Amino acid sequence: MTFIINNLEEIQLKIKKAANRVDRQVADVSIIAVTKQVSTERAIEALDAGLNQLGENRPEGLLEKRETITEGAVWHYIGSMQTRKVKQVIDKIDYLHSLDRISLADEIEKRATRIVNCFVQVNVSGEESKHGLQPEEVIPFIEQLSQYSRIRVVGLMTMAPNTEDLEVVRNIFKNLKKLQLEVENNGYAHAPCHDLSMGMSNDYEIAVEEGATYVRIGTALVGNERRDS
Ligand SMILES: *Cc1c(COP(=O)(O)O)cnc(C)c1O
Repeated sequence: MTFIINNLEEIQLKIKKAANRVDRQVADVSIIAVTKQVSTERAIEALDAGLNQLGENRPEGLLEKRETITEGAVWHYIGSMQTRKVKQVIDKIDYLHSLDRISLADEIEKRATRIVNCFVQVNVSGEESKHGLQPEEVIPFIEQLSQYSRIRVVGLMTMAPNTEDLEVVRNIFKNLKKLQLEVENNGYAHAPCHDLSMGMSNDYEIAVEEGATYVRIGTALVGNERRDS
């Protein structure tokens, strides 16, 4: 557990410095501990270290951990969601970070028994390999969602490309922020869109400087037991 505590202290310090550089409050940035590469035991250590937001990207990993961790965690589903898996997981998560198509919204509407907090995933970088809507599709998509009683759009999410060029990464985050403000300013009742889910182990400081309210950190925080072993 000291491993996670040490990582957490370092990350919190870096987030604080990044927030200070742009006059933001650290309280406005939540850390999601991405536990997809680690065991349930290590996820419990993360909770014990004070991290209560956990991120998983596969139904199997989520369901396995939820069997043991029955309370005290807020669950974020950060991976792309297959339509046929919705039924299994939708009532077991607090946030979905990967809403990217109407067919998925339809299935959520059909299966969820309560309102689901969703981030609309945006492919800002335009890479073919990435999931998410093109930026110009986002507003029409969100407007369509007003008819769905079980979907609340809390924010936008993106993944930056895996590049050494930090200015490219920064620009992607800046563009997502711009789009988030546009949606927020439209004042949709079903889409308050106050939040921005962006930043991972390699780029969370830039994400915080550019307005992230949720950073999704795996390797740098809880490690990667798949790779270690
Ligand atoms: C795996 C993953 C992360 C965390 O990645 P790290 O580089 O280990 O911090 C964040 N977001 C998504 C969508 C992921 O799949």
